[in-house]
Amino acid sequence: MARKPLRPCRHPGCTRLVSGGYCPEHQPPKAARCVSAQWHDWYSLKVWTDDLRPEQLRREPFCRECAREGKRVYATVADHIKPHRGDWALFTDRSNLQSLCKRHHDRKTALEKAENRRQSGR
Ligand SMILES: [Zn+2]
Ligand SMILES: [Zn+2]
Repeated sequence: MARKPLRPCRHPGCTRLVSGGYCPEHQPPKAARCVSAQWHDWYSLKVWTDDLRPEQLRREPFCRECAREGKRVYATVADHIKPHRGDWALFTDRSNLQSLCKRHHDRKTALEKAENRRQSGR
């Protein structure tokens, strides 16, 4: 009877030991895979509203794209650099977050939509 060694929860920054995957608090929501309508709910989860999003905006209060243009504009959106497309590990990865103002976030979303159309047209 081999006992599984305990490992830290896969949620970035969480040190709780579990037998694999995530601790109960950071468990990916069930039945939320690959259906885009369902990942929208992830943005109303505590882990996003109370943890990832405010933490990102605290760490990086200004829009990253505006900074590139030499402007300082307060960011209001914590954006996923790489679209997570329903990937919970990517969704909760702090290194995959950047702060953007609404204008730049809207622009990025529009670009991604155009990109998706191109890809699905193949
Ligand atoms: Zn955890
Ligand atoms: Zn901006």
